[in-house]
Amino acid sequence: MAICFINGNFNSASQCGIPVTDLVIQRGVGVFDSVRIYDGKAFALTAHMKRLEKSARLARIDVGDGAVIEKMTEVVREGAKRPDCPDGGNCIAKAYITGGDVVEHGQFPKPRHFVIFESGGNISTDDYKNGVALQPTDEGRPCPLTKSINYLVGLIQGSGRDDIYECLYCPDGKVTETLRSSFFICRDGKIITAPVGTVLEGVTRGIIIGLARENGFNVEERCPDVSELAKADEAFLTSSWREVLPVVRVGETAIGSGKPGPVAARLRQLFKANLDKWLDA
Ligand SMILES: *Cc1c(COP(=O)(O)O)cnc(C)c1O
Repeated sequence: MAICFINGNFNSASQCGIPVTDLVIQRGVGVFDSVRIYDGKAFALTAHMKRLEKSARLARIDVGDGAVIEKMTEVVREGAKRPDCPDGGNCIAKAYITGGDVVEHGQFPKPRHFVIFESGGNISTDDYKNGVALQPTDEGRPCPLTKSINYLVGLIQGSGRDDIYECLYCPDGKVTETLRSSFFICRDGKIITAPVGTVLEGVTRGIIIGLARENGFNVEERCPDVSELAKADEAFLTSSWREVLPVVRVGETAIGSGKPGPVAARLRQLFKANLDKWLDA
């Protein structure tokens, strides 16, 4: 069962709420970050909480001197070790900063904060074995450097289809990222992924690029053309919860052989082998 830290206490998440006056409810103003917890240890906690602070600042939500970010970092550590942490401490911690009730000249001076610990999404071993399909869309994600709570434009893509894992944003014919993950293709011996700024600075993205380069892969940071999808040998996505997940189809376009490829498998193996380096003490 999900738990939540709000107003100084941990509680069952179903008992927690915020006022309907908060702009997160009325206008979708809010930012968050998701931290994967492995056996009670947070993954890349500092990087995630730095990004949370950056998201808040870009959204003009007041985080003062950053003390509140420190506090939330401690809350993630503490919650991860609690006996009532979901799934024996193998779950996801989501730290939220809302717009609060006040907007002043496009700034949000009185935010609310809370951290939810919940079970991760349904990620099946079949998805790693068979790969997943993405729904391409001409839409782009607004404010790409901000992890905003507003996923509406992306969520409604591929509406009603159970074969679609999530959407792939392709504004102006350029491939950027997916609903919740960074996206990569492999082509002509190179790994290609969109540069930070056109996409969110994915924590897993950064780690995977580092591991790939250390292990002799050539990584190019640019947005692939949509037309390159049909020519790719393989594709995959990365995120803290999904690690490295193969992508075998985008819309009607099969990627490579239509089966998961060796680069994604190798990178996931490298990620797992090095995981301890990014785990909290
Ligand atoms: C959360 C998210 C990611 C993944 O970020 P990680 O830091 O690797 O977990 C990538 N893209 C988008 C749009 C996201 O919301």
